[in-house]
Amino acid sequence: MLRLFTSMIVIALAACSAPSDIRDSRFIMGTLVEFTVVGVDDEVANTAISTAANEMQRIEDLFTVYGEHDNSVKQFNRAPVGTPVRLPDEVSRLLEAAETIKIDSHGAFDPSLGGLNLLWGFSLHDKPTAPPPQKKIEQATPPAFCVEKQGDAWMRLNKRCQLDFGAIAKGYAIDRGIEILKSHGIEHAIINAGGDLRLIGRHGDRPWRIGIRHPRLAGEVIESLELEGDVAVVTSGDYERYYLFEGRRYHHILDPKTGWPAAGSQSATVVADSAMLADAWSTALFILGNQPFPTPNNLNMRLLIVDNKGDITANTL
Ligand code: ADP
Ligand code: MG
Repeated sequence: MLRLFTSMIVIALAACSAPSDIRDSRFIMGTLVEFTVVGVDDEVANTAISTAANEMQRIEDLFTVYGEHDNSVKQFNRAPVGTPVRLPDEVSRLLEAAETIKIDSHGAFDPSLGGLNLLWGFSLHDKPTAPPPQKKIEQATPPAFCVEKQGDAWMRLNKRCQLDFGAIAKGYAIDRGIEILKSHGIEHAIINAGGDLRLIGRHGDRPWRIGIRHPRLAGEVIESLELEGDVAVVTSGDYERYYLFEGRRYHHILDPKTGWPAAGSQSATVVADSAMLADAWSTALFILGNQPFPTPNNLNMRLLIVDNKGDITANTL
């Protein structure tokens, strides 16, 4: 039955869209971000969506390590080791949240593997077609203790430590986008950034219906959820940015312990209150695979992990 539902969340939402839906999309953070708003007039919806999209673009510009424009994250990554650097409050706060998740996930999530990530190059324009040499991987893999806060400032402890918010900033941007929609009086909406989303309210007289993509069968869903209220659903998968080399799959979610793409999972989905937490934890749980899940109880998360054999190893959805 599940297969009757369409694959991509994007399509799943479109399929059940009601006439009163107001929809718009923007290309932000390297993905098509879809806004769906229900229950307000067009003018309110359009203003709210534009403001939310601008805010999400601002967040991308603040955190990205790509592109021509300089920002405090790139400056930090260039700063000499051992020199305290003042980061904007917002960057400092997200880094603090990321460092907490690093500790709670036993190092599976690591916001300082930016150098290693650039070496693998999955997010660059010219994507590589073969893995880098082991020696270069070792030289780029950050040590366990990488950045330290001193008063208001942060410093790098090793030249291999380079910040990368790629596994958490999109979730944070979605959260900010939802806050903006709410501040415009919107009570029913979804912001869907390429399958990572947060929803509020209901879809007319029904809950929102969300399809979670099957990690191997393009066009099919592995789970379909009916959700309402205020909830985020984020998936990390090895099918988004990858290449095959000598019969093996190499993808963009890196195990900080080995420096290589994590091998334990095909996808990890987290349902949580905050898209920021769901984003970071979906990456962490993807890496942890079927190891015991150290997710802190107080985070109130539900999980769906598909292991490297395609078996569902944890389903609390
Ligand atoms: P997506 O960006 O496809 O939604 P993720 O949220 O899992 O996927 O984030 C993957 C990105 O996060 C990578 O492109 C890289 O920038 C960064 N990253 C890769 N491995 C890790 C890791 N172990 N911890 C933190 N960030 C990571
Ligand atoms: Mg993530």
